[in-house]
Amino acid sequence: MKASSESGYFYSRSPYKEAFDIEFAQEQLEGEMYKYRCKSCKVLTTDINGRLENHGDGCEYKLLRMAGSA
Ligand SMILES: [Zn+2]
Repeated sequence: MKASSESGYFYSRSPYKEAFDIEFAQEQLEGEMYKYRCKSCKVLTTDINGRLENHGDGCEYKLLRMAGSA
């Protein structure tokens, strides 16, 4: 295997691509210019930290994603 194809393989297997999930609908907190939260479960994006499991119980986005990936 050539070195170039090996590095390409490495990047396609990067865990970060799958671990970070930031496609959910967000809303800005009132009066907080740099704070956002999930529109469905109201958990701060800084608490979610790109992880699907950090969304609140019953979060529509979380349920949707879990159903889609099952
Ligand atoms: Zn959520």
